[in-house]
Amino acid sequence: MPKMPGAKINNFINLSAVLKKKILLIFNILNQKKYLFYFILLAFFFTVYALVLGQIKHHTKLKENNFNSFLESNEFNNIKEYFFENLNSPYKEHNYTVVNNDTLEKILKKYNIKNSEINKIAVEVKKKKLFNIYAGTEIKVVTKKEKESNRIISIFYPIDGITTVEIKKNKDEFRVTKNVLKLNRKEVVLSNTIKNNLYTAAIQAGIEPNIIVEFANIFGFEVDFQRDIRTGDAFEVYYEQFVDDDNIVRSTGKIIYASMLVNNKELSLYNFENDSRKGYYDVDGKSVIKTLMKTPINGARLSSSFGIRKHPILGYNKLHQGTDFAAPRGTPIMASGSGVVLRSQKYKGYGNYVSIRHNSTYVTAYGHMSKFGRGIKKGVRVNQGRIIGYVGSTGMSTGPHLHYEVIKNGKRINSQRLKLPSGKILSNEARNKFEVERIKIDVRLAELRNNS
Ligand SMILES: [Zn+2]
Repeated sequence: MPKMPGAKINNFINLSAVLKKKILLIFNILNQKKYLFYFILLAFFFTVYALVLGQIKHHTKLKENNFNSFLESNEFNNIKEYFFENLNSPYKEHNYTVVNNDTLEKILKKYNIKNSEINKIAVEVKKKKLFNIYAGTEIKVVTKKEKESNRIISIFYPIDGITTVEIKKNKDEFRVTKNVLKLNRKEVVLSNTIKNNLYTAAIQAGIEPNIIVEFANIFGFEVDFQRDIRTGDAFEVYYEQFVDDDNIVRSTGKIIYASMLVNNKELSLYNFENDSRKGYYDVDGKSVIKTLMKTPINGARLSSSFGIRKHPILGYNKLHQGTDFAAPRGTPIMASGSGVVLRSQKYKGYGNYVSIRHNSTYVTAYGHMSKFGRGIKKGVRVNQGRIIGYVGSTGMSTGPHLHYEVIKNGKRINSQRLKLPSGKILSNEARNKFEVERIKIDVRLAELRNNS
């Protein structure tokens, strides 16, 4: 039989004209009955779903798995959500991000909740002191729509990395429960080679930012992270993690051992906790922290201490934010600790002034100098004891003296009351204990390196 494509096309056109009419009719009904439309679509969808499911049963296990993954796919979930949203479920889930000055009351008012209900919840939460949350926290609120207002079904929010709060309606009362994750202590050893900077390399190695900061602090007296680090330098850090049952890190503990290879020199530091000698020590039991000198000048007399005093030039009472040492003009002044020169210049009433950054916490400053030490310029690295200048009377000063300041985290503190762990070497019993501890750490370190 010869084929008759023309007839087929005509049939098709007729058919589609009929279809069009039918579709128009359906749309008319749908405009009036929106929900009927959703119902039909849903019914259609489930019919297809059932058919496909029936088909699947005849297929291989592999195909079944594929289908399951489709059901779990975003596409399927989107369709599902679309239907549920439009079916006008009385239950709604709200995700709210806390902003500054939010209170639980303020947040709940946004969801048209009865005041009486809000008050009940607020009282319960306050009783248990569980609403100390920070801006940025995600709160999940599930509400049920009623005639005039919404009712709370549940509220859920985290207070910190391991604690969450759940508020659930139980008849007419609200039950507030605090859930604390059980954490397991874990020891890890992570290392990397530095290409750009320590921070990037450490992040790449999977080290948590607070451990990186701690690491930088430990080495702060030994390594200048801006200047000393070269491509190819390396580090290793052995520390505590606290993980939940899913092995997700929820918090970190102390650094047990840290090592840096800088310019082919290796410096390994061990955490040692022994009474007042708590801190980090090298293989020889020498403390990494070198104390800042109380008196960075020889043969001087303390002439004015830190505190309120009558200013010798201004004449009125003023907080003296440093310590003065009277000494003959030209007496050498030493860097009270190793660090990098921040300033070496004339500076305000200080006259000739030098400041040194020792680590991320401490800066020291020296004023009224007659002249600067040789080579003391901004950015130069100095060791403890290096001569940075000479006593003078430049700036706002009545006679030759050194004005010495210790600045901790940007705040001037009394240098004479400064309590820094000494940089001395452990001896006798403390040294023996340290040796035992150090060997234990080395053994554990070797095990952990082999495991990873
Ligand atoms: Zn002074």
